[in-house]
Amino acid sequence: MSAPRQVCILGSTGSIGESTLDVVARHPERFVVRSLSCGSRWENLLQQCRRWQPRYAAVADAAAARSLRAALHADGLATEVLEGESGLEEIAADPGADTVMAAIVGAAGLAPTVAAARSGKRLLLANKESLVMAGRFFMSAVQEGGAELLPIDSEHNAIFQCLPGGYRTGDTPASVRRLLLTASGGPFRSAPLESLDAVTPEQAVAHPNWVMGRKISVDSATMMNKGLEMIEACWLFGMPVDRVEVLIHPQSVIHSMVEYVDGSVLAQLGSPDMRVPIACAMAWPERIASGAAVLDLVTAANLAFEAPDLRRFPCLRLAIQAAGEGGSVPVALNAANEIAVAAFLEGRIGYMAIPRVIASVLEGHLFGEPESLEHVKAIDAEARRVARGLLG
Ligand code: NAD
Ligand code: MG
Repeated sequence: MSAPRQVCILGSTGSIGESTLDVVARHPERFVVRSLSCGSRWENLLQQCRRWQPRYAAVADAAAARSLRAALHADGLATEVLEGESGLEEIAADPGADTVMAAIVGAAGLAPTVAAARSGKRLLLANKESLVMAGRFFMSAVQEGGAELLPIDSEHNAIFQCLPGGYRTGDTPASVRRLLLTASGGPFRSAPLESLDAVTPEQAVAHPNWVMGRKISVDSATMMNKGLEMIEACWLFGMPVDRVEVLIHPQSVIHSMVEYVDGSVLAQLGSPDMRVPIACAMAWPERIASGAAVLDLVTAANLAFEAPDLRRFPCLRLAIQAAGEGGSVPVALNAANEIAVAAFLEGRIGYMAIPRVIASVLEGHLFGEPESLEHVKAIDAEARRVARGLLG
């Protein structure tokens, strides 16, 4: 067997980060934890450092980094603590790491994820926001850096598995007519429309099938998540948006499908457990145990499908529009969504105000073609400023 992979986990304290460590723990002969990281919750990262003893830990927040450094020192642990965005970029580009799990939530993941792409890593991409914001620059960083980009998002991982052997992300797959992106429809798929105004954060994060971080759980309820995933699919698989179809499939058994020109449709099925796509990408093209429950199709019994209702899911409609317009519009969409979702989770705005804030930001947004990553960041910052202004 070849030398174990040296793994960097960006966002190791999150839902995807924890699931990644769970898969790593099952295969100590294959994977070594090289570096771990978080935003500000350093206490969780301290526990992970005690267990995994990585070479580096990176913390975005400088004060939290200092606390972690002091605690590690008191424990007599040799893990070196880096801080800020530059610290995250450093562990992502570290020559001692060959595999990077990009699992920071939101736009904060962009710079370190691009750093991993430029340094030619095997890049396991969960942070869809970085592709939504900067698809063109991101995909050229992958190309120029010689990175191996593998999707972690369950839908995109499913599509990747259904594409022909030897397929590489970024290429337009031959003979594919459409990508069928499945969505559970979230907790409010059949709730009365007039009840949605009163939805609380706790109701919105209670997903019927998946356990996830809070931001993506709200995105799943509004179906903004599926909109972001359409844009993600376009970049990953070199497809125009009109060849990516969203299909509601409440059971979350089929994780997405590929329709070929001859009419064949290939699907990937599995338990709704992110350790399946994580294990798939970490060992690709080999297969390893993930710890996920065996899929019981007799219990699942019925697999249903329906078209999404865009009146119920205005966020999906806004995302489809933004995907069609391209350029700076998806950047503004993503930024406005992050601000609106955070405000909703803090109890500052109601659930149905999320699409209203995003729509207002997009109405005032002037289309532009981002010229660089710096330009993307400036568009993102401006859209955030406008969104915050709308919140008062
Ligand atoms: P989470 O909220 O559980 O974890 C987020 C991680 O990012 C944490 O480790 C946190 O410390 C870190 N972080 C937050 N802000 C940061 C900052 N400013 N700088 C550095 N690190 C920061 O989120 P999650 O559910 O694990 O999702 C992570 C990413 O994976 C998201 O982009 C999400 O869309 C994507 N994703 C998640 C799932 C899932 O099942 N959870 C599925 C598909 C895709
Ligand atoms: Mg997904």
